[in-house]
Amino acid sequence: MKKYIFILLSAILFGFTSCQPKVEQQTNDKNEKLVFATLFVQQAAEFKALNHQAYNIGKLRLDQILSTNKSVKKLAVVVDIDETVLDNSPFEAKSILEKSSYPMYWAEWCNLAQAESIAGAQEFLSYAAKKDVETFYISNRKVEFYDATIANLISNGFPYADSIHVLLRTTQSDKEPRRSLVKENYDIVLLFGDNLGDFSSIFDGKSTADRYALVEENKDEFGSKFIVLPNPIYGAWDAAMFFDLVVDNKDSVYKARLKSF
Ligand SMILES: [Mg+2]
Repeated sequence: MKKYIFILLSAILFGFTSCQPKVEQQTNDKNEKLVFATLFVQQAAEFKALNHQAYNIGKLRLDQILSTNKSVKKLAVVVDIDETVLDNSPFEAKSILEKSSYPMYWAEWCNLAQAESIAGAQEFLSYAAKKDVETFYISNRKVEFYDATIANLISNGFPYADSIHVLLRTTQSDKEPRRSLVKENYDIVLLFGDNLGDFSSIFDGKSTADRYALVEENKDEFGSKFIVLPNPIYGAWDAAMFFDLVVDNKDSVYKARLKSF
């Protein structure tokens, strides 16, 4: 008898719990939000098309500039490295799968020197080189990755991958002093980047509202002198959402930033 009562109670209890609305699993996995962004980079042909689009516009602009060039200085294009000419999405994938975050695995990834070219980047910069337009790589990779970065650029066939043209981060992340250094001897005709700070320091350390306003003020530069590459995984736009905020749980802020109707 006791056995039947137990079975009956178990059945009632199971039926009751199984009818409860499922509570959304709180994974506490901060990398979960990176899955779709990383898949877009690695699986969407549209991502590749966007990169080609950026470098195709660069080529059109370069041809236009060269056809009317009267500069007495040599011409140069300035490119950022990460997510502009080199694809680090395998590092993001590793971080997701290992539930780790930057800087874990970053040094290991950089030193492997296995990042592939962003679509169109190597072809465009080689085209520019044939036209005697030099490339300067201004990147906020730390100088400790200097040798590996040069090796990685060379393995992909990038031109000007040498100590004169690769300017990594030493003391500050602001790229303006390094751009000024290049401007001493060159006319910078085009800049390529996935962060607004790759184009001008006016965009650095600003709130989202200010970044929007600055882009609007400078809208004619985009596709003209500033060529933007897509990066849905990380960037200054992320930090801008936390401008003037001190938060323990960034994930709560992300949802608060969503614009619904
Ligand atoms: Mg970048």
